[in-house]
Amino acid sequence: MEVLCQGWAPLPLDEELPGHDVDWGAERAVHPWAFGDGATWQWHVHAFVLRSPSGAVLVDTGLGPFDPGAPWAESRTPDDVLAAEGLDPAEIDHVILTHLHTDHAGGSMRDGKPRFPNARYHVHPADWEHFETRDGRGESGARHAMRRLLDLDMLSLDPDDGDVAPGIGVIHSPGHTPGHRSVVVSDEGQDLLLTGDLLHLPAQVTHPDWLSSHDQDAERACGSRRALLAQARDGKWTVGVSHFARPFGGVGASGWEPPGS
Ligand SMILES: [Zn+2]
Ligand SMILES: [Zn+2]
Repeated sequence: MEVLCQGWAPLPLDEELPGHDVDWGAERAVHPWAFGDGATWQWHVHAFVLRSPSGAVLVDTGLGPFDPGAPWAESRTPDDVLAAEGLDPAEIDHVILTHLHTDHAGGSMRDGKPRFPNARYHVHPADWEHFETRDGRGESGARHAMRRLLDLDMLSLDPDDGDVAPGIGVIHSPGHTPGHRSVVVSDEGQDLLLTGDLLHLPAQVTHPDWLSSHDQDAERACGSRRALLAQARDGKWTVGVSHFARPFGGVGASGWEPPGS
């Protein structure tokens, strides 16, 4: 398992969990790594590489050439990220896109061609449909670039949950977007959950029912978050989060816990 980090940007805390009186000072005291200067948090952009005997699977692709929602504090180009990890794009057999927001799907293509030329790309059809218009705002840039994948027969729009590769499965977890998926990796009794955008801040682990400004259908997202975090807690799964500055941890009785605790 490798983490590909394209960079991070500080995002304002006061826009995160509208309607909730969050004690950010207390949150910062418990999870200092998650926060930036002043009233901001560190929004990191991670993708994950999973290697198995049957090949390599990439979960999300970062922003690619697209701009982040706020100016980067630190960033690297997608090519530099892959080179730094010693990853040849031709090695990737499957690309699972948790959803089609640009910070997850923007790196799928390079100069109009698939960045991962030997991969099969997996997208839930509800997201493929949603991002064609995004509630009437026009097609997203990431999706537009990915149309070429259809012509090349490299895009799977299978709606079903199940394994994409041995031990690497997708679970429909809608709300953040209609076709949002999380990924569960099972390896010799050890389970790993890659949340996609079920989470942005550790406070959501303690309070999965708090509505998030990032979610297209916030109530539905709460249901997905509650269900998967309960499974992760009961099964003692390792959890990997796309936007956490320290992406790995677990779900304890009182909230997010660092690895090994
Ligand atoms: Zn998202
Ligand atoms: Zn995201």
